[in-house]
Amino acid sequence: MDEREMDFENRLVSPDYLPEDDGDNPLRPRALREYIGQDKVKENLAVFIDAAKIRHEALDHVLLYGPPGLGKTTLAAIIANELGVNFRITSGPALERPGDLAALLTNMDEGDVLFIDEIHRLPRTVEEILYPAMEDFAIDIINGKGQGAASIHLPLQRFTLVGATTRAGQLSAPLRDRFGVVLRLELYSPAELAQIVSRSARILEVPCEPEGALEIASRSRGTPRLANRLLKRVRDFALMLNNGVIDRRTACEALDRMEVDALGLDAGDRRMLTAMITHYNGGPVGLETLAAMIGEESVTIEDVLEPYLMQIGFLGRTPRGRVVLPAAYKHLGLEPHGQTML
Ligand code: ADP
Repeated sequence: MDEREMDFENRLVSPDYLPEDDGDNPLRPRALREYIGQDKVKENLAVFIDAAKIRHEALDHVLLYGPPGLGKTTLAAIIANELGVNFRITSGPALERPGDLAALLTNMDEGDVLFIDEIHRLPRTVEEILYPAMEDFAIDIINGKGQGAASIHLPLQRFTLVGATTRAGQLSAPLRDRFGVVLRLELYSPAELAQIVSRSARILEVPCEPEGALEIASRSRGTPRLANRLLKRVRDFALMLNNGVIDRRTACEALDRMEVDALGLDAGDRRMLTAMITHYNGGPVGLETLAAMIGEESVTIEDVLEPYLMQIGFLGRTPRGRVVLPAAYKHLGLEPHGQTML
């Protein structure tokens, strides 16, 4: 097995941020009404935002959770935009010491939004100063060392914390309980992703027919970040193949050449499913065994690979492990006994 190809983080269909996603800023929706899909989340947020504006109060702290690339950062920026306040952005791993967070918090204006991505990766010592900051809008920091150390009490402006995580279950209970609003983002339907692709194509000034947009959408694993990435790749092929116009045929040909199949699976997904079928008769396979088998971290499987395969009914979860479902056999052209169909 080629290990490099199995490294999901570098795969074209990975929903994680890749350097080539840079410069997609014009594609980020800036207002709630431009944000496609996630209707329930949007409806709830709209109510909370309006209420906060009417009461002239900071919005309650918001926790957004769901797989990578679904629009958590985008939504956090929209919240700040809709409230008309500043937006500050950081991440759990970037806040190494309590002082890092204190510096950010003490520089915030009334009502500002602080976005902490990957909030489940905050160091414990930093997390602990976040509790009083979220609850009482104050922090206590220790100045100096040993006998001469003194605790300084710093009041803060009322602010809104927006936290993002791939899994709410990974947060400690005291942190989770301090969020007044907890919203889960779902994978997008192909129809919603097609709207996103069409919108992005308009912004990038790429002629894209609705069928072309739908083809890209169907292969984007329910993930807007991936839809935008595939659109940009297909655009290059379209230039060579079809005078720059993305229609269904050009999209199919481009995506086939990139080895992203009709449902967005790449060679890595197919190898994982095929290995489960040939070595374990389709499962159940324990998460750790699966991780060792394909050379991935188990968290990558749980957060990134599985949600889509489960959504399309290819993979199931049982108490004893993961199982390959009939739809996956059909897609791979395999019989449930591991024989290739003729
Ligand atoms: P996350 O923070 O969940 O990893 P991002 O907010 O960075 O995801 O979203 C990735 C990209 O997908 C954004 O740059 C944006 O262009 C696009 N995107 C995400 N959600 C939407 C949406 N609902 N409508 C349109 N574009 C979206």
